[in-house]
Amino acid sequence: MTPTLAPAVPLTAVDRCDRCGATAYVRVVLQGGGELLFCSHHARKHLDAVRPIAARIDDESARLDAVNAPPPPPE
Ligand SMILES: [Zn+2]
Repeated sequence: MTPTLAPAVPLTAVDRCDRCGATAYVRVVLQGGGELLFCSHHARKHLDAVRPIAARIDDESARLDAVNAPPPPPE
């Protein structure tokens, strides 16, 4: 049994949260194909909901510790 998923590609500054447009730190690869990008704020908000349908979740929110990221804009 070999997973057919592509190797993880690190998120970059051009990857933006699908919800608010902030820098994305979490990528959710869906079981049915496609992917969602979330900032750390929306990842916390939506991750529990998407976890059952996610094939893979790449959480790079630890990088927040290394950069002085601005707070997400208000909703
Ligand atoms: Zn967001």
